[in-house]
Amino acid sequence: MKVMHGIPASAGVAIGRGFFLSRALPSSVHSTVLREKVEEEVSAFLRAVNRSKEQIRGIREGVKDHSSEHYQILSVHLALLEDSMLIDQTVRLIRENQFKADWAFNKVLQNLLETFHRIEDQYLRERGHDLRQIGHRVLENLAGRPVDSVAAIRDAVIVIAHDLSPADTAQILKSPVLAFATDVGSKTSHTAITARSLGIPAVVGLERVTDEFAEPDEIIVDGEEGIVILRPTPEAIREYTEKRKEYSLRIRDLSRFARLPAVTRDGRTLRLHANIEFAEEADAALRSGAEGVGLYRTEFLFLNRKDLPSEEEHFQTYRKVTEKFARHPVTIRTLDLGGDKFASQIELADEMNPAMGLRAIRFCLKEKEIFKAQVRAILRASSHGMVRMMFPMISGVGELRAALALVEEARAELRRKRIAFDKEMPVGIMVEIPSAAMVADLLAREVDFFSIGTNDLIQYALAIDRVNEHVSYLYEPLHPAILRLVRRTVEGAHDARIPVSMCGEMAGEPLYAYVLLGLGMDELSMNATSIPRVKRILRKSVAYEAKEFVSGLLLHGTAEEIGKILRKKLEDLFPEERF
Ligand code: PEP
Ligand code: MG
Repeated sequence: MKVMHGIPASAGVAIGRGFFLSRALPSSVHSTVLREKVEEEVSAFLRAVNRSKEQIRGIREGVKDHSSEHYQILSVHLALLEDSMLIDQTVRLIRENQFKADWAFNKVLQNLLETFHRIEDQYLRERGHDLRQIGHRVLENLAGRPVDSVAAIRDAVIVIAHDLSPADTAQILKSPVLAFATDVGSKTSHTAITARSLGIPAVVGLERVTDEFAEPDEIIVDGEEGIVILRPTPEAIREYTEKRKEYSLRIRDLSRFARLPAVTRDGRTLRLHANIEFAEEADAALRSGAEGVGLYRTEFLFLNRKDLPSEEEHFQTYRKVTEKFARHPVTIRTLDLGGDKFASQIELADEMNPAMGLRAIRFCLKEKEIFKAQVRAILRASSHGMVRMMFPMISGVGELRAALALVEEARAELRRKRIAFDKEMPVGIMVEIPSAAMVADLLAREVDFFSIGTNDLIQYALAIDRVNEHVSYLYEPLHPAILRLVRRTVEGAHDARIPVSMCGEMAGEPLYAYVLLGLGMDELSMNATSIPRVKRILRKSVAYEAKEFVSGLLLHGTAEEIGKILRKKLEDLFPEERF
């Protein structure tokens, strides 16, 4: 038995036979062809490229949702196969050096992969995988070998791969895959995102699982703990069979809460919303009991592509989500690029402190046309449902007014073209910079709602880089300063009679639900899978007791003290819950 630890990418337990999906680049050796055979070699190469394109187009046709991430990535793969760097350089190497096609292509590929590898941004570095995946396909086609895909899987198996391509993951819906385990990947990799939205257990970033695995090994995948066990003992199988049963009971038990309102025992109702990154997450969010979308991170529309999304594309995507949620609100956040997220088609300067640099609303106030195209699309979508627009990273009233002035321009442009939009569409801001929390009362007079972004609020208030693992021990949602900033924001909102939501990760942590209730939040927006659990806790709580308890909490000096008192309280109140 071999126990391996990786990154827990999607919760759940699976036990079954492993299936190795080879995605390594087939090796090539330096070899040449006779001069008179050079053109034949070029033709063979171009045929393999065309065949690969046809295969990807075929897979793409099966993806109905054209705005989905899968569809877009498959389009990126097609674009890579059109790329002159890759194709023309290979043809040139074949012609000039009489290289055999696979050797020439491998050389060009390796050069490009090295460039990708050196890119510091994790998201873009991961796109090197896209290149590797199409490289694999072209080389297999060149060798006349079948490119095995998830679609060919007929039995319920656990897929073991170095990495899975979007072409593979697009097919998972139709195949009986039980779980995945991959060498590479992070929580933001496509495989992880897809596994979570499909509810398939997955562990990524195992580094050497493909080396350790030998068919037909039996495998256990524990996506909650990030553990993969190869060749488990009968005892381990018994233990995890129990765990699997316990997990599905937990989910089944929780799913009852999805349909119930989040109302406390003394009758206070909170609205629980979902955070989404892609339009196709809407159905799963509704199933989990989301009563709306509290944060739609639209920057994902900009990633993974070569051009900017058009106003029409923004509009069609937003309209689809809006229509799915019918009478529930959909909060569309305007572009939040920069910091740890940026798109290849927008040139952003290298900055010493990108988290504090030209990002989000600051970038939009500079690139007015990019911003206004998105704002017009959001306004247009507002005539199809309950849309709310939200600006990220507002630091004060001046910045807010500048953004609102551009919204007014966008409205005037639509009026001139006689295009419909909801004149009453609520406009709000994220409170995620401490200065905004400090002037919450002033900001509240000029907007329709607030949403507290604790991911950034904690980063800026405590001076802790949210992506730096060396200081992550200081990243404390229960720090008295954070609780006070949240309280101040809630008071600012309520004095001006506007609702206040929270959409940072803190909102979806069951441990904090009671505190957030006590702080007076009106809405909480979170990863859809957390909704039933948070609902269950709120339904067992008494709002006025939580309020009293939280006033006491705010008198303590450290996050540690507060954490201890909170855990003790929750254990007394809800002995059957695990925190
Ligand atoms: C936040 O900062 O809390 C937030 C929700 O936004 P993001 O994580 O996209 O920065
Ligand atoms: Mg943020």
